[in-house]
Amino acid sequence: MAVVNSMENIVEVALSELLKEDPECCTCEHCMNDMKCLALNALPPKYVSSEKGALFSKISNAMAQQRSIDVRVACINALEFVKGHPHHPID
Ligand SMILES: [Zn+2]
Repeated sequence: MAVVNSMENIVEVALSELLKEDPECCTCEHCMNDMKCLALNALPPKYVSSEKGALFSKISNAMAQQRSIDVRVACINALEFVKGHPHHPID
């Protein structure tokens, strides 16, 4: 049975919303992964088993709202950092 960090989904959604507002930030695979790692490292993980995924999705929505400011701040910090220090290979 798979164990997943549900915070990954929350961060992915939050980042994609922020990136729509900030078209200057690179969205290549390297930068996306860097932003995701930075944001996830700044936030507490929320591990769930996939069996409980359906039930948990309701809870995680409520939690996502509670944590939305924390998530948003972590994602903004990650986005600003990657924008200033992109680690993608340069052609
Ligand atoms: Zn990039």
